[in-house]
Amino acid sequence: MSRASRGEGPRDACGVFGIYGHPEAARLTYYGLFALQHRGQESAGLVVSDGCSVRVEKGMGLVSDVLEEGTVSRLPGHLAIGHVRYSTAGSSTLANAQPLVVRYRKGVLAVAHNGNLTNAHRLRERLEEAGSIFQTTVDTEVIAHLIARHGKNGLEAAIVEALREVEGAYALVFLDEDRVIGVRDPFGIRPLSLGRLGGAWVLASETCAFDAIGAEPVRDVEPGEMVVLDQAGVRTRQALESRRRAACVFEYIYLARPDSNLQGMNVHAVRKQLGRRLARDHPAEADIVIGVPDSSISAAAGYAEEAGLPYEMGLVKNRYVGRTFIMPAQGQRASGVRLKLNALRKVIEGRRVVLVDDSIVRGTTARYLVRLLREAGARQVHVRIASPPYANACFYGVDTPDHKELVAASRSVEDIRRQIEADSLAFLSVEALVETVGLPRGGLCLACFTGEYPVAVQDAVGKDGWERGPVPGTAGQVPAGRAAAAGGTVYRVGD
Ligand code: AMP
Repeated sequence: MSRASRGEGPRDACGVFGIYGHPEAARLTYYGLFALQHRGQESAGLVVSDGCSVRVEKGMGLVSDVLEEGTVSRLPGHLAIGHVRYSTAGSSTLANAQPLVVRYRKGVLAVAHNGNLTNAHRLRERLEEAGSIFQTTVDTEVIAHLIARHGKNGLEAAIVEALREVEGAYALVFLDEDRVIGVRDPFGIRPLSLGRLGGAWVLASETCAFDAIGAEPVRDVEPGEMVVLDQAGVRTRQALESRRRAACVFEYIYLARPDSNLQGMNVHAVRKQLGRRLARDHPAEADIVIGVPDSSISAAAGYAEEAGLPYEMGLVKNRYVGRTFIMPAQGQRASGVRLKLNALRKVIEGRRVVLVDDSIVRGTTARYLVRLLREAGARQVHVRIASPPYANACFYGVDTPDHKELVAASRSVEDIRRQIEADSLAFLSVEALVETVGLPRGGLCLACFTGEYPVAVQDAVGKDGWERGPVPGTAGQVPAGRAAAAGGTVYRVGD
């Protein structure tokens, strides 16, 4: 059963982290994963090497459920990688938790992946026909098998050979006993940045992870670039030809943290500009502007500034409830929203309200919030969305519902307005979005808004497409918490 057919909400991308050259590599990776937690809350893990032994700690749940600072700090090693996961391919089970660790003829290899491969199904079938045995149902394992097959010329060459066969979106971080390697797909769809902490080098999905450990951001890893961190420092090469950049625009709109910089641009600043543009293109006769915490606060502040209206705290978020979309079923999802956000009657009562949100996917949140504001006494509710209608599924690492569940896939703006019961509704146009982000249109992936997919989607399998019965030893959902952790596995060189 696909996630969408279980009635779950849209999913975020994953987060990856890697560090080389620091005596406390595991502890810094642990901090880095905390900073990337917003990118995935299903599982977390890290792999650390001291040049002789490779140790793995991973499990289901939040970083704080899976990893303990005391244990992590005692893991010896000067290089480490880590991962926080949302499943976009392969279900939420311990076997699928990353980093994935495999043993092949050259030793131990760990891999952490953010993204989604669009030809993984075919590759997997081919590998299985040739005798490969898969332990997981994640597309990342396909990469590991391909690397093992190409392994005779050394790891770096094997990674390049493997990735030549792979299509789709990936920001990958690898670790073997004595190096960390980062690679970004030729379109640069998912983000990956390089940073520096004294003599150590760091890779992370977002620069907020550098801030968390006191590292300096150096630059984004380029599309198709391979960055090798080892004893010699940093080596880089254009591993795969990149004919076009297509950075995911939804990172700017929703996915990334506001304190991260992508391609040198601060995410909060971009969101604020999107809000300003929204106010210019779609003004509303209103008394106050409110944003949906937390992801829409920047855009709402921009809208208010541009419109000359007071920005008010009309919605209060209970920060101890997880993100809405962690809820496993539609019923729980709806009550999750209720638990999570409350309206501030004192602010709302008798007012004409502009409600700014970053996006509408199914329309569930918007309809709920409009009702909530009316119940709190709003005279009018004008919904303004700081992105275009989300009308197409993402196949590059953001788990969106089935096409038919995307409210904008088949409905006009007026139909959506009626469905969410707003007095008025407006979205940013694609042109306004591109102009405001300020990058060339051809340099962005806008597929969720335009349906123009930069990488052909060959195998549009659902994320559970490979689940032909449970993987041995991992049947069903593994509950969150340390008890579920596969932690403590040690791979020794020469074992
Ligand atoms: P929906 O209720 O399905 O329309 O979801 C829209 C709400 O979810 C908005 O408030 C967004 O901030 C948030 N959102 C947008 N995209 C995603 C995503 N990929 N994962 C989780 N939440 C999202």
